[in-house]
This record gives sequence, C-alpha cells and structure tokens, in this order.
Amino acid sequence: MRYLNIALAKGRLAENSISFFEAAGYKCGEITNASRKLIIEDNENMARFFLVKPADVPTYVDYGAADLGIAGKDSVMEAGRRLYEVLDLKFARCKMVVAGPKELAGKLDSLNNKRVATKYPAIARDYFENKRRESIEIIDLSGSVELAPLVGLAEVIVDLVETGNTLRENGLVILDEIAPISARLIVNRVSMKMESERINKIIEAFRKKLEGKAYRP
Ligand code: AMP
Repeated sequence: MRYLNIALAKGRLAENSISFFEAAGYKCGEITNASRKLIIEDNENMARFFLVKPADVPTYVDYGAADLGIAGKDSVMEAGRRLYEVLDLKFARCKMVVAGPKELAGKLDSLNNKRVATKYPAIARDYFENKRRESIEIIDLSGSVELAPLVGLAEVIVDLVETGNTLRENGLVILDEIAPISARLIVNRVSMKMESERINKIIEAFRKKLEGKAYRP
C-alpha cells in the first residue's frame, strides 16, 4: 500500500481539519500551527499529512501531490481547479461579499468602471463580469483589503466576512453577497478512483462526525 498524501491548510482551518482526520482514526495531532514541521507521517495508516498555505491546498490536490485535502470554499473557487469537492465540513463558515461605503448601498450598478480591491481576483472578476455584466478594474491586494475604499484605492472590495466587525469598524457595509463559504473536503480526480476504498472510508467517517455519530471502521 502506498502513502495517502493529505494537504491541510495552516491557520484558522488547521485545528478543525485535524480533528476530522483524528475522528477518522488518523494520527495527525502533531501537525499543529505552532509546529515548524511541514510534514508528518502516520505509519500505521500509511498516511502523510502536510500543512500548506490555505490558498495552495487546491494546487497540491489538483496536481496529485496530495490525494485529498481540506480547503476553504474561497480557495477552491479562486483556484478554479479540476478537482472533486466531496463534502461541506460546515466549519469556518463565513460569506464572500462585495462591500463598500454605505453611500453605495443599492447603487452598485450606477458606478461604471469600478475599482475592486480583493485577495480574490478570479472570484471578483467572475462575479462582476459574468453575473453582473459589468467591466471592472481589479486591484489585487494580499491583505487589509478593507483599507482600500477608505484611502481611495478602490470604490468597493470583494472579501470574506464572518461577524461583520471588521467592516463595521471601518464604516463599510455589505453591498451584495456572492457565496456562502465553509471548509470543504477536496479530492484529486485520479486518486478518487485509484484510492477509492481509503478515501470513501474517510468520507464516511467525516459524515458520521458531521452527524455527531462515532465512526467505527
Ligand atoms: P469579521 O470581522 O469577523 O467579519 O472577519 C472579517 C475578516 O476576517 C476579513 O479580513 C476576512 O478576510 C477574515 N476572515 C473571516 N472569515 C474568514 C475565514 N473563514 N477564512 C479566512 N479569513 C476569514
């Protein structure tokens, strides 16, 4: 039997991701955010876990460097890769939204050639160009996106909102909702066929955990 390679996202998804695999009988608790170790092996289950940047999880899974992984729906949408999204794990729930100053509420259409600041250029472009049929300019940022409308870098932003506190504290409001977001189990398309037995067991265990039932292999 070969090693099953599993990519997990560093940061806020890590702890819950680990608890899902532990519930499926895997031993990966050692791979915490605090640890510098990027890869750990669970020899008993012939599995190898690695912790990568959240946005990179779909890349590892698409290329088959990881057979499966847990990624935020935001990363899955932005990557636009050909992989199987098999299960909504219901944690790290938030929303992908368009936000901006409250003066723009209900007036999103009236603003031509909007500048949209975001860490998610593909999602923003798809939403404005394909859903709203509006041409926009993307301002690609890597963080603190909420600052952009406050300093005149962009009219609106596309970003994740959880409690809404960050928007509120910066005088911004939700102008439209693009998609609900949560953690997803994603699987490489070839691995789904070649390793179906092991992967289906994992899916079954995750389903049991979601239903609040214990998993017995
Ligand atoms: P909040 O103030 O609770 O609405 O959180 C908003 C900030 O947290 C934004 O800067 C988001 O980019 C970030 N954020 C919220 N939820 C998530 C999530 N599930 N994954 C990654 N970043 C998030």
